[in-house]
Amino acid sequence: MRIVAIANQKGGVGKTTSAVNLAAALALAGRRVLLVDLDPQGNATMGLGINKQALARTIYHVLVEQAPLGEVLHDVSPAGLSLAPANADLSGAEVELVDLEARERRLKAALDALETPFDYVIIDCPPALNMLTVNALVAAQSVVIPMQCEYYALEGLTQLLATIRRVRSQANPDLQVDGLLRTMFDPRNRLANEVAAELEKHFPDKLYRTVIPRNVRLAEAPSYGRAIMEYDRQCSGAQAYLGLAREFLQREESR
Ligand code: ADP
Ligand code: MG
Repeated sequence: MRIVAIANQKGGVGKTTSAVNLAAALALAGRRVLLVDLDPQGNATMGLGINKQALARTIYHVLVEQAPLGEVLHDVSPAGLSLAPANADLSGAEVELVDLEARERRLKAALDALETPFDYVIIDCPPALNMLTVNALVAAQSVVIPMQCEYYALEGLTQLLATIRRVRSQANPDLQVDGLLRTMFDPRNRLANEVAAELEKHFPDKLYRTVIPRNVRLAEAPSYGRAIMEYDRQCSGAQAYLGLAREFLQREESR
């Protein structure tokens, strides 16, 4: 089981969009995929058509009350995709976890104890370097970092990489940065092109070749509770995430 955290402490960089649509694209490629929503905003949950307000049990109960992960899962579309949902309950977890034993390892323990096997677990992290993100980094083998190609793109990256190094040295020596993913790219924007080129220069082996374009369909799909491929398979956003999944699987094979 390959566990991948989608992380960046900046909000609005495309974490949730990438988590949902990479997970969906992997499911469409025939893999069994679990998407873990680890953000109290529950955007991935809503984006896959689950009403977060109506949930009795969520990932909160797994982390804080040690409910079995298998008991909170929902089958969503496309076939092969399961969701561990989140809602506002999770915002309390940060504080409640502080006093609990092995608080950084709660998610890892829950995944280790899973009875249903998955090929991939994709974790949608909150926009903060908090205990929830640390739980994701402790559980994961690799991290995907979505980045918007704008002036401040690299700001914060140093801090995120430092957190990854700390988790690696203290809890999870195998943790790798799988890749930086350029999101919401607008080829007509000169600055975006410059930042994209800058990333290529500094991180040649860490950068996904696939670039996610700015595409309004990607912003619309969540309001229909659908992954992009099930909303408009032909649009540039759907094609980009299908391409990302192919690149992702190729990298996995060559590992
Ligand atoms: P994060 O999870 O990092 O906060 P989101 O994935 O929620 O970021 O994206 C922030 C906003 O931008 C959302 O409204 C989302 O629908 C929109 N969005 C994300 N990626 C794209 C894209 N490639 N093109 C257009 N809109 C996008
Ligand atoms: Mg998000």
